[in-house]
Amino acid sequence: MSFATELPRVGKLPGSKSMELIERKGKVVARGIAHGMPIFVSDAKGAMVRDVDGNTYIDFYGGIGTLNIGHCPEPVVKAIQQQAEKLIHTCFLVTMYEPYVELAEKLTACVPGPSLKKAMFVNSGAEAVENAVKIARFATKKSGILALECAFHGRTLMTMSLTSKVKPYKFGFGPFAPETYKIPSAYCYRCYYNSTYPGCGMHCLERFDRLLATEVSPESIAAVIVEAVQGEGGFIVPPKEFLPGVKAICEKHGFIFIVDEVQTGFGRTGKMFAIEHWGIEPDLITMAKSIAAGMPLSAVVGKAEIMDAPGPGQIGSTFGGNPLSCAAGLATLEYLQKNNLVDRSNVVGNRAINRLKAMRDKFHVIGDVRGLGAMMAIELVKDRATKEPNKELTEQILVECYKRGLLVVGAGIFGNIVRMLMPLTITDEQLDYGYDVLESVITDLLKK
Ligand code: PLP
Repeated sequence: MSFATELPRVGKLPGSKSMELIERKGKVVARGIAHGMPIFVSDAKGAMVRDVDGNTYIDFYGGIGTLNIGHCPEPVVKAIQQQAEKLIHTCFLVTMYEPYVELAEKLTACVPGPSLKKAMFVNSGAEAVENAVKIARFATKKSGILALECAFHGRTLMTMSLTSKVKPYKFGFGPFAPETYKIPSAYCYRCYYNSTYPGCGMHCLERFDRLLATEVSPESIAAVIVEAVQGEGGFIVPPKEFLPGVKAICEKHGFIFIVDEVQTGFGRTGKMFAIEHWGIEPDLITMAKSIAAGMPLSAVVGKAEIMDAPGPGQIGSTFGGNPLSCAAGLATLEYLQKNNLVDRSNVVGNRAINRLKAMRDKFHVIGDVRGLGAMMAIELVKDRATKEPNKELTEQILVECYKRGLLVVGAGIFGNIVRMLMPLTITDEQLDYGYDVLESVITDLLKK
C-alpha cells in the first residue's frame, strides 16, 4: 500500500539494517562520498521516504531540489519503463531518437523571453554549467567569466572554480581554472559593504565597474553567471534591483548572461524558472535536478544564435540526453503542468514562510527567514546583534529532525542555514507536521 499521504513513523535510529549497510559502505566507498544522515533508503513515494528498517520520514530536501514533482510519480515511472523496453541508448551524436528532440521543443518553449531558443542535453548540473561556459566562450571568442560570491555551480574543475565556498568544495583541489572572477553577491543579511537595503546604493552592482577597472578588462569577459536565488550559498534572494542591474551591465559590455537554474528551476520558486520573477530573458539557462524527477539529465537552453556558435561535434557527450532521461523529462514536464505544481509552490511557500516567521519571533537563534516560493530557509545565529553564525546548532537541528522523522539539509557559506526543498506534491498535513517537528526540535535544543 502506498504511504505517500501518511505521516512519519520512526523507531530507534539508526536502524540495524542501515547500520550494517553503513559498515559495508565504509569498507568500499571512498570516504569523500559522505552521507548527511545514517539512512539507507528502500523506497519513496510523494514526499515520503522509507528506510531499509521500515522507518518512514517526511522529505523536506527532495534529493536536494531534484524531486519537485515528488518521489516516483506514476506517469514518470511508466514513461521510463516503456522507454526502457524500446531503447536505452544509442548516443545521440551518432544516431538519434525522437524524445531528445521533443524535450528540446518543450523546454525551448517554456523558458522566458521572446528570442528563438535552442537546447542541448548533458547529465549533471555541473556539466550543464561547463557547457554554458564553453558555448559563451566560443560565441564571444573571449575567456573571462564573472561569478558571484556564495555561488555554487558544481564540483568539476571549471564549476568548482566558479564556486565560492572553500571548505569542503575547493580546499586542496587547486589550482583552479584561470580567468574566473568573483563579485560580492547581494546577500543583504550579511552585506559585504555593511550597508542596509534599501537605501544602500547597491554597492554590490558598483563593484562590477571597479573590478573591470582593476582586475580584468571588459574586452576579456565572455559571460557573467548567476544563480537567480543562490542555493548552496544560503538561499539568498537578491533585492529587486540586483539581477536587472547585472543584466544591464552584461548588455552594456556585450557579456553573455548565464542564469544557473539548476536548483531553482521547474517551479521551485513559484515560477517555472526563478529569473521570471525579475522579468529578464537570460542569454543562456542551465537546468538539471528537477528536470526529470531524479533521472540524470541536464540542459543548456538559450538564444539560438549563441547556442549555435560551436560547430558540429564541439559540444555533447556519450550519455547526454539519453532516451530514458528524455522520456522521464517529458513526463515530468507534463506532470508539473497538469497538476499546476508551479502554483502549488506558492501555496507551499506561503504556508511555510508564515510558520517560519512565527518561529523567528519565538526563537532568538533564528536571525533571518527568507525564500521565494517553496525555496525557503532559516539562518541560525548565536546572537541577533552580532549575527555570529551558529553552525553547531544547525547541525544539531538536522540530526534531531531526522530522529523525529523529518529529513532536512543544511546550506550556507558558514554552514548555518536550514534549507527546505520539499516535493511540491507534499500534503498540507505533512507540511504542517514537518514544521511542528522543526519547531519542537528547536524548542527542545534551546532548553538544553
Ligand atoms: N548549479 C547549482 C545552482 C546547483 O545547486 C548545483 C548542485 O547543487 C549544481 C550547479 C551542480 O549540479 P550537479 O550536482 O548535478 O553537478
